[in-house]
Amino acid sequence: MGRPMAEFGCAKCYGEDEQAVWRRQQAGFEHEAEVVDGSHFSVNLRRCKECSQRFVWIFTEVVDWMGGDDAQYVTILPVTAEEAAGLTGGTLRPHDLGTLGRNRRHLNHDWPTGGPAHLHWRSGRFLLQEGR
Ligand SMILES: [Zn+2]
Repeated sequence: MGRPMAEFGCAKCYGEDEQAVWRRQQAGFEHEAEVVDGSHFSVNLRRCKECSQRFVWIFTEVVDWMGGDDAQYVTILPVTAEEAAGLTGGTLRPHDLGTLGRNRRHLNHDWPTGGPAHLHWRSGRFLLQEGR
């Protein structure tokens, strides 16, 4: 159980209840910038409508060549204003985002091929993989 990190977000965008946070992704956030625009790997910046906290939204899809549904992974990580500016300005590479997760809770939505989706808060570095 990771404790909420008070320096990021509000109860609505960064609260303990991962289901509530996930359900709010469509309506509760302002789309701010597209950082990587790909069909299998995309990164964009979103802002909480409630508290203006910025989040980076990382989407990866791994095509299952054997047929069936493709595995989809989403990681939602809060970022500071400086980090957001670095991403849109090109000084922070999307692949470096995994390092920011080291001491920062992020929401993972994992949807493996054929399997049920898993939604959970995680802390720790993560590996950014481009989909294929
Ligand atoms: Zn918020």
